[in-house]
Amino acid sequence: MANIVAIVGRPNVGKSTLFNRLVEKRVAIMDNQSGVTRDRHYGYAEWIGKHFTVIDTGGYVEGSDDVFEGEIRKQVKMALGEATVILFMVDVYEGLTGLDQEFANVVREVNKPVFVVCNKADTSERAMMAGEFYALGLGEVYTISSANGSGTGDLLDEVVRHFPDEGEENPELGIPRIAIVGRPNAGKSSFLNVLIGEDRSIVTDVAGTTRDAINTHYKLYGKDFIITDTAGIRKKSKVHEDIEFYSVLRAIQALQDSDVCIVMVDAERGFEAQDMSIVSLAHRYRKGIMIMVNKWDLVEKDSKTAEAFKKSILEKLGPMDYIPIIFTSVVEKQRIFQAIELAMNVYENKTKKIPTSKLNEKMLPEIERYPPPSIKGKFINIKYITQLGNHSPNFAFFCNLPQYIKEPYERFLENRLREHFDFTGVPVKILFKKK
Ligand code: GDP
Ligand code: GDP
Repeated sequence: MANIVAIVGRPNVGKSTLFNRLVEKRVAIMDNQSGVTRDRHYGYAEWIGKHFTVIDTGGYVEGSDDVFEGEIRKQVKMALGEATVILFMVDVYEGLTGLDQEFANVVREVNKPVFVVCNKADTSERAMMAGEFYALGLGEVYTISSANGSGTGDLLDEVVRHFPDEGEENPELGIPRIAIVGRPNAGKSSFLNVLIGEDRSIVTDVAGTTRDAINTHYKLYGKDFIITDTAGIRKKSKVHEDIEFYSVLRAIQALQDSDVCIVMVDAERGFEAQDMSIVSLAHRYRKGIMIMVNKWDLVEKDSKTAEAFKKSILEKLGPMDYIPIIFTSVVEKQRIFQAIELAMNVYENKTKKIPTSKLNEKMLPEIERYPPPSIKGKFINIKYITQLGNHSPNFAFFCNLPQYIKEPYERFLENRLREHFDFTGVPVKILFKKK
């Protein structure tokens, strides 16, 4: 059984803030400026061994005539249908408002456990002011601060008592998450549409049930993967000035949430500075990365064009030349399968563990042949190498004088590692440790 906790309440009480704290990941876009549509967000959380899904019902558009009606109907309907427990959030700063009363009236009719959560009680003085919310007649008032976390533990202790069982662990665990990022018009939405068009490729919409969902779980070409969709927001946002800002923000979030990042480039425009900054960001976050040069159908070409194009990108990538490049046409469905397969390979490279014996067997002879240059008459002696248990490849080289090893030698080691073990598409980190 899935345990579901829905957070409802009027705008700005702090629903998204609590959501982010519970799922320990930034998923919802935070925004104080009104008029921006926010998606309903789902995230997984765990408290003292109980697993549950949290729903943030933050979506709110100001300016429509019937804001409250529309909003409350949507939130409560959803909460009614899906929630195991409802967190009805109010704001100790603002005190009890008419809108809170109206929410309370509807929530009261719902035959599910309701917790009055009085947020923004950042200090004990503030928490003392929560008394007025008992007037709602919904029982105990839990004072919390979503911002600093106080009170949330006590609240969760009570909430999980209403779950019939332990719940399901995050079903997304261990499934590769792919983010498709790139400049507007590169073909991201078209790519997603082609994937969706493949017969019964969608298993479930992880984040909801519509195409607005951020994460979609696919079973396609015999692979299991989740795509973090960054394309939607641009078309949905009503605030035109913020479109670029939000699409960039969303891309960054998608990237942070992903294991592998497909940077889609428009072949007609070539690999531009903005593409480079996305790649650099993915590299810095230590994500798996691949470059998908799309609209290849539009490029006039002969047998050498792809090689030349690739070479020019690799030159710009410099030390990030481990990133694979694939040429596709989404409209002509060329190399769609290969693109997904490449993403899966990158994921495998990112998550694989090289046994220590194998590492030393391959790397120690390389080091013997070309040892680190001695410094101030001191010999640097690398004794052994091990891969650290991490989410991306980290290698510790144990030696007598780690502080004396310079960047060029580090680069040498990285290149040898890449030669012996396939780390295509994956940033590799090398550490020197004292032994
Ligand atoms: P939502 O519209 O209900 O989802 O509210 P948000 O989560 O977007 O929060 C609205 C505003 O309240 C933001 O500026 C938050 O930073 C602020 N906020 C949220 N929780 C707290 C809190 O516990 N204490 C304080 N002081 N501010 C908070
Ligand atoms: P997004 O902004 O990255 O999501 O880009 P879209 O998927 O909306 O695509 C922008 C435009 O490029 C649309 O008119 C698509 O039909 C077109 N397009 C996408 N992929 C290709 C392709 O491989 N070849 C050609 N010729 N056009 C494409």
